[in-house]
Amino acid sequence: MNSNQCSFCGRKRNEVQMLISGQEGYICENCIEQAHVIVKEGGEKAKFSAAESMEELKKPREIVKFLDQYVIGQEQAKKQMSIAVYNHYKRLLHAKDENREVEIEKSNIIMIGETGTGKTLLAKTIARELNVPFCIVDATILTEAGYVGEDVESILSRLLMVADFDVEKAEKGIVFIDEIDKIARKSDNPSLTRDVSGEGVQQGLLKLLEGSIVNVPPQGGRKHPDQKYIQVNTQNILFIAGGAFDGIKDIIERRLNKQVIGFSADKLNKIDEEEYILSQLNAIDLKTFGLIPELLGRFPIITYLDKLSKETMMRIMTEPKNSIVNQYVELFKMDGINLNFSKDSISKIVEDTLEKGLGARGLRGTTEKLLEDYMFDIDSIDKKLTI
Ligand code: ADP
Repeated sequence: MNSNQCSFCGRKRNEVQMLISGQEGYICENCIEQAHVIVKEGGEKAKFSAAESMEELKKPREIVKFLDQYVIGQEQAKKQMSIAVYNHYKRLLHAKDENREVEIEKSNIIMIGETGTGKTLLAKTIARELNVPFCIVDATILTEAGYVGEDVESILSRLLMVADFDVEKAEKGIVFIDEIDKIARKSDNPSLTRDVSGEGVQQGLLKLLEGSIVNVPPQGGRKHPDQKYIQVNTQNILFIAGGAFDGIKDIIERRLNKQVIGFSADKLNKIDEEEYILSQLNAIDLKTFGLIPELLGRFPIITYLDKLSKETMMRIMTEPKNSIVNQYVELFKMDGINLNFSKDSISKIVEDTLEKGLGARGLRGTTEKLLEDYMFDIDSIDKKLTI
């Protein structure tokens, strides 16, 4: 037993704030925190298990039906995503067949859409339906090896953590890489300056995405030379990347105009025009935006999420299983109050939220503000409240 290091992660005494001793070893505060998360969510984690046979595997239509309960609108993205994950897990079953002659390649997915339109929600809900470990990582915290920030391998540390360090389960999980657009190449000339947070990270991601065996630092962050690693094979991990890609519409438009596959602006109204342009999105536009071709090659499926209209936002307020309206109704019910939202107040909440430009993410805050005084004086409300 080495009294100078954590027996779980191997960090040295001077690298941690505390080392607590047990009969057989030591544990540092980082590992205690991780263990706490594992214990707290242990019940849920034990349930992870990807489909083992074609019968168990959910069909695309079934997946969409499940998604419909939580994600409003975004029909195109739901369809493309459900097909993509279905094929992905079918591929995993296929790979078990020893007599197979054809190797089916992995298809990671890129989702493009403004903030708060449901990208993360879609990925998260799919993972829940498929019962596989899922984690979200922000691409902006990653930097090229040797610079301040986190190594790309730390992405897998999170997945491992969620999977309760069950490597086999983590290897069938889904990783959502958020803000992939923020690691776009800043300049068209790659040799101009060292681009640690952009192109360097894209390069670093390549080996993870294509499927290889990666040494993962169990507690994330930076790799230490004397640390113990967990080996994870990324071949069957599905990567879904999301980003707002501000300005992508102009890029598509420029390309379309150049190709003179004109669309007549006066025939289409503004929303149709925008949707039409976005529907033409392809890898060339993402390359122009600053993603390197090698990275794009590993994301063969590109899908986009629609801007949320007022009508969709109103549906988001009420329709999902855990809609905001249902959540507040539930909260008030605990005080014996029957809370009722009028159509007008929902419409007002949506309008105020649209102004903020946060997408559906802003709905909760606006609702909270509206109900603030009622919640403060909840004792003085008698049984029923209609706002
Ligand atoms: P982003 O596109 O930025 O990843 P999120 O998926 O995190 O957005 O959405 C933020 C929140 O807004 C979600 O947790 C959800 O409550 C709500 N939301 C966004 N889009 C939708 C949608 N299409 N249907 C239902 N809820 C949505």
